Amino acid sequence: PFHCLDCGEQLSLRLSRAKRAHFAHRPDSLCTGETALHRYAKELLAREGILTVPELILREEGLTQIVCREGRHKFDTVEIEERLET
Ligand SMILES: [Zn+2]
Repeated sequence: PFHCLDCGEQLSLRLSRAKRAHFAHRPDSLCTGETALHRYAKELLAREGILTVPELILREEGLTQIVCREGRHKFDTVEIEERLET
């Protein structure tokens, strides 16, 4: 048996021809499913308050819009997401 490193619940192995094999929580799971790497990234962002991103340009139906300029963005404050009831 394999268990989630976050919540400890037992995971089910899913073998599919359409997707690569993966583990999944059971449908009634309450796990947020965040990986250790995801949580680490949030901790780093909260601590450093800096995010370096590539330029993100949205092009669709003949329109072009710069969503985010490439660079190092410094935030005054960082609030980590919190789980809502549902
Ligand atoms: Zn879990």
